[in-house]
Amino acid sequence: MSETDLSPLMRQYRDIKRAHAGAILFFRVGDFYEMFYQDAEDASRLLSIALTSRDKSSADPVPLCGVPYHAASGYIAKLLKAGRTVALCEQVEDPKVVKGLIRREVVRLYTPGTLVDAELLPATEACWLAAVTASPVSPGAPQEQQLGLAALDLSTGEFRICEFDGRRAVSHLQDELSRLEPKELLLSADLPPDLSAVAAGLPGCRVCLEEGSRFDEGATHAALHKQFSTHIISRLVSETSPTGRCAAGAVLRYLYDTQPNTDLRHIHEAAVQRFSDTMRLDSMTIRNLELVRPLNDPLDAEASPRTTVLGVLDRTVTVMGSRLMRDWIIRPLVDLPTIQSRLDAVEELAQGLEPRFQIRAALKPVQDIARLTSRIAVVRASPRDVLSLKRSLLALTDLRVPLARLHSPLLRNLVGEWDSGEDLTDLIVRAVHPDAPALVRDGGIIQDGYHCEVDGLRTAMRDGKQWIAQLEARERARTGIESLKVRYNQVFGYYLEITKANLAKVPSDYIRKQTLANAERFMTPELKELEERVTGAEAKLTALEVQLFEQVLQALARHTERLQTMARRVATLDVVATLAEVATLYRYVRPEVHDGTAIHITGGRHAVIERLAQDLSFVPNDTQLDQDTHRLLILTGPNMAGKSTYLRQVALIVLMAQMGSFVPAAQAAIGLVDRIFTRVGASDNLSAGRSTFMVEMSETAHILHHATPRSLILLDEIGRGTSTYDGLSLAWAIAEFIQDTERLGARTLFATHYHEMTQLADRHPSVQNYRVSVQERDGDVLFLRKIVAGGADRSYGIHVGKLAGLPKEIVSRAQDVLRQLEQSSSSSPQFTEPVEQVSFLDPALPAPHPILEEVRQMDLFSMTPLDALNRLADLKRRLE
Ligand code: ADP
Ligand code: MG
Repeated sequence: MSETDLSPLMRQYRDIKRAHAGAILFFRVGDFYEMFYQDAEDASRLLSIALTSRDKSSADPVPLCGVPYHAASGYIAKLLKAGRTVALCEQVEDPKVVKGLIRREVVRLYTPGTLVDAELLPATEACWLAAVTASPVSPGAPQEQQLGLAALDLSTGEFRICEFDGRRAVSHLQDELSRLEPKELLLSADLPPDLSAVAAGLPGCRVCLEEGSRFDEGATHAALHKQFSTHIISRLVSETSPTGRCAAGAVLRYLYDTQPNTDLRHIHEAAVQRFSDTMRLDSMTIRNLELVRPLNDPLDAEASPRTTVLGVLDRTVTVMGSRLMRDWIIRPLVDLPTIQSRLDAVEELAQGLEPRFQIRAALKPVQDIARLTSRIAVVRASPRDVLSLKRSLLALTDLRVPLARLHSPLLRNLVGEWDSGEDLTDLIVRAVHPDAPALVRDGGIIQDGYHCEVDGLRTAMRDGKQWIAQLEARERARTGIESLKVRYNQVFGYYLEITKANLAKVPSDYIRKQTLANAERFMTPELKELEERVTGAEAKLTALEVQLFEQVLQALARHTERLQTMARRVATLDVVATLAEVATLYRYVRPEVHDGTAIHITGGRHAVIERLAQDLSFVPNDTQLDQDTHRLLILTGPNMAGKSTYLRQVALIVLMAQMGSFVPAAQAAIGLVDRIFTRVGASDNLSAGRSTFMVEMSETAHILHHATPRSLILLDEIGRGTSTYDGLSLAWAIAEFIQDTERLGARTLFATHYHEMTQLADRHPSVQNYRVSVQERDGDVLFLRKIVAGGADRSYGIHVGKLAGLPKEIVSRAQDVLRQLEQSSSSSPQFTEPVEQVSFLDPALPAPHPILEEVRQMDLFSMTPLDALNRLADLKRRLE
């Protein structure tokens, strides 16, 4: 169809669509958003809505589908989830006023990384939009290339800049990206292939390849100057290089394009993050230790959240706390004083049952102040949002008293400038009606007494309605028609309805409007005049309320920084109080973190597995690792004995200690660790098209290249993916390399099924053998889960097969075969596992029940009878 054949509306559509070719265009027509052509075909499929066509009669009908305007956000969410973006095109002129074609404009582009809407965002996860840039490379020195990463969470206004250089820059960048898990990543189309590949392993991330010019220094820096104060700019200039600033500017430019005419004043700060400020965790370690996502289901954390460290620790009461908890877990610290100050704060609240209880109770009603503040700043907050902010601020007032009694520096710092925004609460109470609806267009937002014109219009409407009621009574009396009614509908406005039976009594001044099957509808000049007064007032009132509400938002938006600061404080307080709560609930102890290199753990437990084994059946184990005689621990033992669990348990205790949490152990002293590396299990990475063994070796190579003497390395069954001799030789050589201080000398736990590895201990004084003990009884094995000194010499594979339910004849045949093999090979000595007298009753274990501990800590004399009753009810509930 040629351009001239198109209707004016479709020509307007084409023009707008041309500028938003990549997005699905939601084109507002009356009460619907309509989609045409390919968009309609895609959307009808993705949204399961009917596909019809425009101009059905024409030879070439245009495919069409539509969604009602008030239900758009659910459909937008679905399209975003399917990896699409949506351009929202509104009518920007009033159709009642303008004749002919109304002007339309795209007012917002919905992309996965630029959301602020509560209904489109997961509450407990950040939503990062990131950009990556690289400095130009000089041909002689490719390793001097510098990389810049900027990330913005538009929903909270948090902006971070990070730079990487040196030989390992790309891999550091990759690690940081896997911590951030950006929802959207901007990459320049000119990046070299190894950099474009950084996005490959990111789950659920939309990659936007942009023209190189979008990252151009002049334009990106202009964006920074537009967004930030000169004070911030000069700080950025001194703390970052142009590469990092280009990435930051590219993020802002993308925002300006996708959120046109939006006030982005809630983005006023940019934090420069130094990669070396936190413990380095690469993506496989984060995955293997199941910190925030279960291994089996990396994208759907909701599926089995209890199997992750986050699932165990996140008993926060606010969503801000929940997001920060995730951040603390994936960013353990390496700076001793900061770790100590967190531990001090957690300890104070772990011991102070009363303040902890009060703080957590007071925080409960606090909503997502961080995101509410952003929605207010971009003027997309609903009346309900503003009321939520009010409720949250009121709750902050309740915190003053319990907070005033705290002493540890971190908590004192939070409390020091506690600001519960009383002035803002006052404004909201005065201006916004407590029962205001969720949508601005529904009216009834502004509180009585706030604005005299609103009050006047409301009176006029009320009186007008009363006048109409009086008119009805008068007309009934005048005409003698008892069934006469004044009614209202959208099309005719107010009218008098008379049933067929009474038509004879209708006075001559009634003007007929409409005839129905059994009634007729009439108008009178007086009713017309009253109607104009009522509906005129209504329209005026709605417009005025919208305008006043926007003014309230703007008044609140002037306090964006204050509110953001409070949001951060609330999150920190919540996380600290939660770590304290979890510590008492699960009998964690304060670790002693020091800058030596020894790690001593007594009665350590696996934070997640012990929770899954609800019945306290988890067997605690000790650990000693240091830089002399215990640098490399070789752990052997049958399958299913608990080797992998033990390895992870040590890593998790270290990680929790350095994030500032108490740890699941009877006692723990942790010599600071700069990085944790894991290579756990023979997990397949077939989706990436590489063999298991190749993956295993490249991951191991990665560890050997990046670890330092301060690192903690966990190697679980490496070398399994190839023939026995190959695998054993590799495992052997790798172990030797790691324990050698000339070459690496990192503290390492090495679980292996190669019993030959135990001979390493004879040759190297830094290597120790341990095994997980089992008891053999009547041909069955009993897993004791206890780690003891010494190496194992059999693998009990057949026993495990029997346990797993293999048919009897297979088990006994396998035993025959094994016997024959062992006899025929004289080089394979026959050892039997010494039967030990280890019982499940471990003396270190039976600590007091957490509830008993709480009761012991209760200060009865400072409680009111009501408090006491409430506490008792709470304890009872938890016991049940
Ligand atoms: P391996 O790596 O030796 O094959 P795993 O570490 O995978 O063994 O553990 C096997 C099973 O034993 C797991 O189901 C785990 O929950 C359980 N388990 C491991 N360690 C303990 C322990 N200390 N106490 C109780 N159960 C444990
Ligand atoms: Mg294992």
